[in-house]
Amino acid sequence: MVHSRYPRCVDVAIVGSGPAGAAYARILSEQAPHATIAVFEAGPVVSDPPGAHVRNIADPVQRARAQRRSEGPWPHTAASPADPLDDYAADRERLVRPGTFLLPDGWRQPGEDGLPAAAMSSNAGGMAAHWTGACPRPGGSERIPLVPGLDRLLTEAERLLGVSAKVLADAPLAGEVRARLGAALDAGRPEDRRVQPMPLAVRRTADGRLVWSGSDVVFGEVTRTNPNFGLFDESVVTQVLLRDGAVRGVTVRDLTTGAEHEVAASSVVVAADSLRTPQLLHASGVRLPALGRYLNDQPQVVLAVRLRDVPAAPEADPADGGITAQSGVSWVPFTDDHPFHGQVMQLDASPVPIEGDPPAPGSIVGLGWFCAKDLQAGDRVAFSDTETDHHGLPALRIHYTLTARDHDNLRAAREAIVEAAHALGDVLDPEPLTFPPGASLHYQGTVRMGPADDGTSVCDPASRVWGVRGLHVAGNGVIPTATACNPTLTAVALAVAGARALAADLA
Ligand code: FAD
Repeated sequence: MVHSRYPRCVDVAIVGSGPAGAAYARILSEQAPHATIAVFEAGPVVSDPPGAHVRNIADPVQRARAQRRSEGPWPHTAASPADPLDDYAADRERLVRPGTFLLPDGWRQPGEDGLPAAAMSSNAGGMAAHWTGACPRPGGSERIPLVPGLDRLLTEAERLLGVSAKVLADAPLAGEVRARLGAALDAGRPEDRRVQPMPLAVRRTADGRLVWSGSDVVFGEVTRTNPNFGLFDESVVTQVLLRDGAVRGVTVRDLTTGAEHEVAASSVVVAADSLRTPQLLHASGVRLPALGRYLNDQPQVVLAVRLRDVPAAPEADPADGGITAQSGVSWVPFTDDHPFHGQVMQLDASPVPIEGDPPAPGSIVGLGWFCAKDLQAGDRVAFSDTETDHHGLPALRIHYTLTARDHDNLRAAREAIVEAAHALGDVLDPEPLTFPPGASLHYQGTVRMGPADDGTSVCDPASRVWGVRGLHVAGNGVIPTATACNPTLTAVALAVAGARALAADLA
């Protein structure tokens, strides 16, 4: 018999160790400590504790290594570490961020827009080992009316992710950025949707360092010290085993040996991101009509500005991740009247050459305005019957088209971002740059929740997959609404609701 490092049987198998999978492990550790839990993660552990943000790795060489090891079979060639914002204004169709790898093929079908910048991460902690940590709450039509107690769930998600709006709120130039934006944009907005500091998943240590949250914070000590919990990296789940309409376990390939093992489980949570979660369900024989459909990414425009008439701020401490130290991150919330999510953050350097004196530290800021996609069932990730990916799972085929309404929204977003930019200072780019579809890295809808099994959803409001007992899905794919704001906080809130329901079932 082939030796296995996995348990033969657990109560709950979780696929994927990003913040959504980690939220299930955390809530179950708190509310069902007797339950045995195994998290299977395709990628390697690249940071300590497992899932920690790579930006917290002080040594630049080690940080670069952690980024490269997160990039699956296609690590970037650059040896030096890069900040996620280095490519902020790159005018490239296939924009790719450190720690992520692009979908190698199938990202566009003939005659469609496709998702040229569709990307994934494969490492303990998933994309949240590389993210910016912006955690705004959804507003207006972004909200999910079918989820009871959404605000309390969002509060719980903030606890799990360690979110604070205060940590960078008093950065030297942040108040001025907010004051200028607010004067231009706050009129007519409800108080809680006015310009404000971005809630961020970051904390400051007693010695003043910034520490960015990754899945390590979501897991928390309660999970790490749970004797019934195990995290298995370099372990790809190739199938969820089903019998008589219920899960009975998973097949896991140990990438360190190549051997496949079955692990019995009465509950399985698939939290493998919005592209790979429906892929695994499809590979396992789940055939719900909405599976992979309603795929949506947030069309995004960006523009750089040099803040006018600001005092020189102190040099940034590179250990803080530099980018946010002087002007912080400001948030222009989505409302139904202003249907864009605006994010304004410091850039390390100007995206265009600047004449005259070098800019004061923190005085170059990038504006990013995100739109909500016009949802269509035809926008979808489909699965090839004949071709496979590097793990032998059905190859992903993206069908994706921007509608006339999407183009109208993008036009309006370009106008809105120029107005905001002029309020701040001197606009550096000749005109706003529209990022390629997929560049937001916020893919949603592919395993969306709904009130009933009517063919337009994959799971119920507690993330239980229709018609398969014991099977949950988690992550941004569960979000059924068209959001423009960064979705991770919402996805973690929905995972909390799902995990609580599962804990009650296990009890
Ligand atoms: P992921 O974090 O993607 O984790 C999924 C995991 O599943 C991966 O580790 C993967 O290897 C694993 N997996 C997949 N298939 C299998 C399988 N078959 N078997 C085993 N394991 C599998 N979001 C925000 O809300 N705010 C931000 O400011 C923000 N900034 C970002 C900046 C950057 C540069 C990046 C890269 C992302 C950013 N995001 C941001 C997106 C955010 O990181 C994701 O929304 C979040 O990580 C999604 O969590 P998840 O758990 O659903 O999936």
